[in-house]
Amino acid sequence: MRLDKLLANSGFGSRKEVKLLLKKKWVTVNGKVETKAEAKVDSEKDIILVGDEPVSYQEYLYLMMNKPQGVLSATEDNHQKTVIDLLSFDLHQQELFPVGRLDKDTEGLLLLTNDGQLAHFLLSPKRHVDKVYFARVAGRMTEDDRIAFADGIVLEDGYRCLPAKLELRSYDEKKDVSEVEITIKEGKFHQVKRMVVACGKEVTFLKRLTMGPLRLDENLEKGEYRPLREEEIAVLR
Ligand code: URA
Repeated sequence: MRLDKLLANSGFGSRKEVKLLLKKKWVTVNGKVETKAEAKVDSEKDIILVGDEPVSYQEYLYLMMNKPQGVLSATEDNHQKTVIDLLSFDLHQQELFPVGRLDKDTEGLLLLTNDGQLAHFLLSPKRHVDKVYFARVAGRMTEDDRIAFADGIVLEDGYRCLPAKLELRSYDEKKDVSEVEITIKEGKFHQVKRMVVACGKEVTFLKRLTMGPLRLDENLEKGEYRPLREEEIAVLR
């Protein structure tokens, strides 16, 4: 593989930024300074350093984002901002895409990757990956609603959802607002909102907290993202 490609894919900047690092003689391959972007390297055998930082090649990138409201879970859109627009410029060349969708007004955990196989695996309807959402609901969510969720809510189009968990966190009598956590195993269009509508109430705020074993990092501000740690990637498979 070309050295500049390896460095760019390993997070050392865009191809242009990487060329500058090479020009400044910051990069060594097996102990020798290498300045040529097109030099061929073997990421498994060669010892490549940028300054004194070893380069470990990752074939794919995995990012956890705290998606804010107001952006689309899509790779491009002619009119509206997408989650890809929130990434730094050097990541724009990495062909990242969101794994599944959150509505424009939903915030929280969104996984971005360029690993199509993993995305396919996680989204497969057969796998029933648990997703936990925090929701604020106009109205009182009741014990009967909890039982209806556990039995399988029937949506307005007649579809019966798989059993889901509804946990009542709080109810503010004055404001008539409930706070709940909802765990679903599917990813139907607007599913959580439609399940709550089926109970005669309305979601006013929705945030995804987990996807399978992955939990939203509370240190991420809205719109921020970070690479997944190795152990987080390992448990996703
Ligand atoms: N359910 C919804 O209704 N919206 C989302 O964004 C995710 C799950």
